[in-house]
Amino acid sequence: MMEKTVMDEVVKQVMQVLSKTTLLEEKKGIPVGVSNRHIHLSAEHIEILFGSGHTLTRQKDLKQVGEFAAAETVTMVGPKGVIRGVRVLGPVRKNTQVEISRTDGFSLGVVPPLRDSGDIAESAGITIVGSHGAVTLTEGLICATRHIHMHTDDARRFGVSDGERVKVEIGGSRGASFKNVLVRVHPDFRLEFHIDTDEANAVNLKSGDEVTLSRCEEV
Ligand SMILES: [Zn+2]
Repeated sequence: MMEKTVMDEVVKQVMQVLSKTTLLEEKKGIPVGVSNRHIHLSAEHIEILFGSGHTLTRQKDLKQVGEFAAAETVTMVGPKGVIRGVRVLGPVRKNTQVEISRTDGFSLGVVPPLRDSGDIAESAGITIVGSHGAVTLTEGLICATRHIHMHTDDARRFGVSDGERVKVEIGGSRGASFKNVLVRVHPDFRLEFHIDTDEANAVNLKSGDEVTLSRCEEV
């Protein structure tokens, strides 16, 4: 039979390993943010859509620092259909960018190319109608690549870097893996996995759920 002191030491060590493992597991979770269709507007387009001198009205802060849902909404008009009540997200951007799901694309009769946010050259066009006027975009309509916003500290913790593509694991009854998830790192970012409504519905995820990151070599 083991000496009591030896037994105590073994128990202590096992407990230490277990608590470390638990801590690691807890830290692995990445909160989900489901992005519904939305539009980012340039200052020029805000004035055309909502009137000269108009600035966006902040309605609700988003999780990412400085980002907000505006009170303003627009209507999207495509060759096959119309979608009303599309939320404007602030702050103002250099270029107008519209993010929709593939399902929205079917309703509108347009095919949004899958792009990383900001990469809008030769993307799809769409007509946007506001309370004051309308703009027909020749480019700017995209289906956004799923991505994870990470603070620099999170990136270090996960061992990934800005621009990397990783794999994300989803648990639950419709559990699945998402490949080609873009990692975006910035000191202002808060940890959040952004997917569109099609992706969320396909795997039964909602905002606030948690997913985990796979090791990069498994992508
Ligand atoms: Zn995002």
